[in-house]
Amino acid sequence: MNIKMTACALAATALMLSLQGCGREAPQPQATRATGKTMGTFYSVQVSGKYKEGPESLQKDCDAQFKKITDAISTFDKDAELAKVDADATTEPIRISHYLAGIIRFCQEQSSRVGYAMDVSVGPLVNLWGFGPGKRSSAPPSDEEIARAKALTGPGAFKVFQKDGADYLQKSAPDVRIDLSTVGEGLGADAAADMLDAQGVENYLASVAGASRSKGRNPSGADWKIGIEDPSNPDHNVFQAVCPLGMAMSTAGSYRNYFKDSKTGKIFSHAIDPKTGRPVEHSTMSVTVIAKTAFETDALDTGLLVLGADEALRLANREGMAIFTIEMKDGKPLARYSKAFAPYLKCAGEVNAALEEAQ
Ligand code: FAD
Repeated sequence: MNIKMTACALAATALMLSLQGCGREAPQPQATRATGKTMGTFYSVQVSGKYKEGPESLQKDCDAQFKKITDAISTFDKDAELAKVDADATTEPIRISHYLAGIIRFCQEQSSRVGYAMDVSVGPLVNLWGFGPGKRSSAPPSDEEIARAKALTGPGAFKVFQKDGADYLQKSAPDVRIDLSTVGEGLGADAAADMLDAQGVENYLASVAGASRSKGRNPSGADWKIGIEDPSNPDHNVFQAVCPLGMAMSTAGSYRNYFKDSKTGKIFSHAIDPKTGRPVEHSTMSVTVIAKTAFETDALDTGLLVLGADEALRLANREGMAIFTIEMKDGKPLARYSKAFAPYLKCAGEVNAALEEAQ
């Protein structure tokens, strides 16, 4: 049922794959591409045409952008600002940078759009389930441990405020932990895109793992295309090609980052439902969101995944969000999309037969 994509499209390591220019015999038009590692994952930034002195300068400029983000929000680097805030076991106000405060405030706004299914105070649960900087888990925690960690989360867990022009974060308990991993990739894609915009670059596709922002056209002069993976396929082949049409796009999935209980074989995904304190167990495997910025899409996609396809699509159609969901039904992937997502499918040429517009 799935669209056949060429091997070159599938060679990319990111969750979302740039499909531009694959499998053509004609000479490749000029393009500059930088790839590398950031935030424990991979990035790919492509510019149609020349970029300064070439790919190395593009890579250097992107790395500088990603470093700023990692220095602020990483919980994996103990010297990062957020890691220090997390480690500070105090309920006194902690002075934080304006940059970090802005990121947290934006996440809190987006959290309310998805009924608090995305909640950056989920840190104690992320760590308890082994998806934080510590050791990976091989067994689920006990109900008591989950209840203790959950008590440290929720909209009242901490507040961010300004006093005399400075920004502060105040925890309600010393062990409260903030986790911004859910928006890191979106922030990265936006930072690379903003950097290119500032230089007047008209045609690019900037991706950090599952989050991308695009502008203009690919090196062949066509719309940029991005593939949404098939979560049911072991190779994660492309399920559906999408044209972001100058917008940002990101996908949250429950099928890539998980651990298996060594006794029962049960799989636990890194998407944690703040209401239960446990990884989601429903059949929704991925949710893709398109919006103006990758920060926004990345702030929404995990919460929509937590809600599950039915509720996410109802919410998206009510609020005009462009989303695409994939569930497993009877062992097969079933994809549905909100009304606002339809324009991004049209330009992609082939539409997967196993696809339904949600009403
Ligand atoms: P998303 O769906 O975008 O986010 C899922 C993540 O968000 C979970 O892993 C969890 O941390 C958190 N989360 C889960 N449920 C919720 C919820 N309901 N609400 C809010 N948040 C939730 N990993 C490494 O292994 N090594 C590193 O050195 C490393 N450095 C990093 C540095 C930075 C700055 C960032 C942002 C992440 C880093 N990571 C690192 C983390 C790793 O890349 C994550 O797997 C990734 O950020 C999660 O993104 P995703 O797209 O896979 O999932």
